[in-house]
Amino acid sequence: MSFANIPSEDKQRVVSELSAIKADFASRGWFAGTSGNLSMRVGPFSPDEFSFAITASGKDKSQTTPEDFLFVDQSGQPCETTKLKPSAETVIHCEIYRLTGCGAIFHTHTVFNNLVSELFWGSRSVPVEGVELIKGFNIWDEEAVINIPILSNFADVPRIVPEIADRMDSRIPGILLRKHGIYAWGQNAFEAKRHLEAFEFLFEYVYRWELLKKSSI
Ligand SMILES: [Zn+2]
Repeated sequence: MSFANIPSEDKQRVVSELSAIKADFASRGWFAGTSGNLSMRVGPFSPDEFSFAITASGKDKSQTTPEDFLFVDQSGQPCETTKLKPSAETVIHCEIYRLTGCGAIFHTHTVFNNLVSELFWGSRSVPVEGVELIKGFNIWDEEAVINIPILSNFADVPRIVPEIADRMDSRIPGILLRKHGIYAWGQNAFEAKRHLEAFEFLFEYVYRWELLKKSSI
């Protein structure tokens, strides 16, 4: 189905859901210095053909304007005539959608996600053991242990893409870029938001726990 054939009310619904989430995350200070980006898929999906709305590049995400989002295709190219440019990190969203077929992807830069990405860079993953909020990822094992993948960060964003397929863990709906931020996804906006909140909680917990262990030695 071409983008033009996707019902306009479906596109409006996606933009209005993203807009509400953008305002919510902005109120938590999760878009420092115009960083971060949000996207949500619309219409049918196949790994070779899909479209999604994504935040426009360089906007102050604490403001709501008609220029906040644009629709792009599976290659990150705009689906409609627009003066807006998609986020520079759109190719990362394209690859996550292609690999997972998920419905929404949220990306934030926070102090805690940056700190843990550097703290555990040596092992290329953040270990989390037995914390209740692991259940936020639908992992219900008693005293579950998970390792959240940390990927290299490059100024040349397309260089980040090939590592995503190699490092993705099918149980964990997120990847962390070193000293950059978290990408969290879900079947829909509600689930992606729940996952992002769980990641941020776990990163803060793990960081504080590491500090506590060091201070008690
Ligand atoms: Zn980023």
